[in-house]
Amino acid sequence: QVITRFAPSPTGYLHIGGARTALFNWLYARAKGGKMLLRIEDTDQARSTEGAILAILDGLRWLELDWEGEPVYQFSRAERHREVAEQLLSEGKAYRCYATKEELEAMRERAREEGRAPGYDGLWRGRDPEEAPEGAPYVIRFMAPEDGETVIEDQVQGRVTFANKDLDDLVLLRSDGSPTYMLSVVVDDHDMGITHVIRGDDHLTNAARQSQIYAALGWERPVFAHVPLIHGPDGAKLSKRHGALGVEAYREMGYLPAALRNYLVRLGWSHGDEEIISTEQMIEWFDLDAIGRSAARFDFAKLENLNGHYIRHTSDEELVEAIKGLLPHLTGGEVMLSALERDGTAKLTQAMPGLKERAKTLVELIENAGYLFAARPLDLDEKAEKLLDETGRETLAALKPKLDALEDWSAESLETCVRGFADETERKLGKVAQPLRAALTGRATSPGIFDVLVVLGRDEALGRIGDQTD
Ligand code: GLU
Repeated sequence: QVITRFAPSPTGYLHIGGARTALFNWLYARAKGGKMLLRIEDTDQARSTEGAILAILDGLRWLELDWEGEPVYQFSRAERHREVAEQLLSEGKAYRCYATKEELEAMRERAREEGRAPGYDGLWRGRDPEEAPEGAPYVIRFMAPEDGETVIEDQVQGRVTFANKDLDDLVLLRSDGSPTYMLSVVVDDHDMGITHVIRGDDHLTNAARQSQIYAALGWERPVFAHVPLIHGPDGAKLSKRHGALGVEAYREMGYLPAALRNYLVRLGWSHGDEEIISTEQMIEWFDLDAIGRSAARFDFAKLENLNGHYIRHTSDEELVEAIKGLLPHLTGGEVMLSALERDGTAKLTQAMPGLKERAKTLVELIENAGYLFAARPLDLDEKAEKLLDETGRETLAALKPKLDALEDWSAESLETCVRGFADETERKLGKVAQPLRAALTGRATSPGIFDVLVVLGRDEALGRIGDQTD
């Protein structure tokens, strides 16, 4: 059975690259009928925060990427990690290193002078610990193979070969007894039965080091798949401005989780030329061999267009629910939320077909729906103010009695009425519709004006028109 894992370090929010990693692991598990586990890599206690853990769990839940069982907290497994380090020590596959700060600094300096990558030179490898001063602090280092090669058959990168002489003896246990990341990852992946490690390609060298630890322990390695990182539209490392944000920022910008999943899966993986891929299809099609080797570029415009597509294809009721979920996260969202909770839900649902045609994000939907809940007299924006000049107001004053007299307040009869009025008074329809829109919504753009009239209802609509004419 395939078992994948998502293993974020809770030192910050769940960023967009992490979300993609989670999605790939989730999809691969789903595609193969396996499961995805969640491991919070909180070994760096100084930098890990409760807030970051919550943000990660929240972000995953919002993206609807569920994991099996309880999250595994890496820090809580430190005892087990120490045990494995001690085992390697007793088997002669690791050793105590008493090198001082100064000695390590001198090693780095020598490497710099000789133009080598800095690394531990084996100072205490094979040396008798008796030579160390009484009670001197030590770390436990892994005795890495000195010759030969370590080969990773990566599912994305292909066969990657590392010369063992380039991989130095890494620390397994620090002098305070705390295990290092490299040890913890291997032990946890093994103990959790992970079969596939899918993560960013910044971990490729780590995979080689981890492979050596697996070999020393006689454990089977998982399959590795190292996915190229996401870059900005300019090809450079992803910056904040270009999308390197936490998942919650995407939520607050009004993206739908399904749209974000669709966008993220296409950042690095493809299925022919398909752009719109439902989650069901992703699960059916996803495999590691279709992950590309070059870095994907993040493009906000594409994400927006995709989101617009998903909004148009989401039911009115679901969009209203999504808006209700989003409003508490937006500054000033309480006003609309309380209106919705009072009696506005039906109104918003009714207005949704007109609204969703033109919105690319939920935030735009919310802004465009604002007129529904605005208090009279409406605040007019600058363009609406212009439309409601003397001519505009006269037009509305002449139209109002016609609307007043209308018995059937439906879109069809309202349209007949307004068009008839325009014809009779030799006005262009636009010259009537525009001031009408301004009076009803306070803005110069809105969904179709007849729908707006219907959704507002007779009393509210006539009241708003009256505010401009009486
Ligand atoms: N905790 C690591 C990170 O957030 C990931 C480790 C792994 O996937 O092996 O980058």
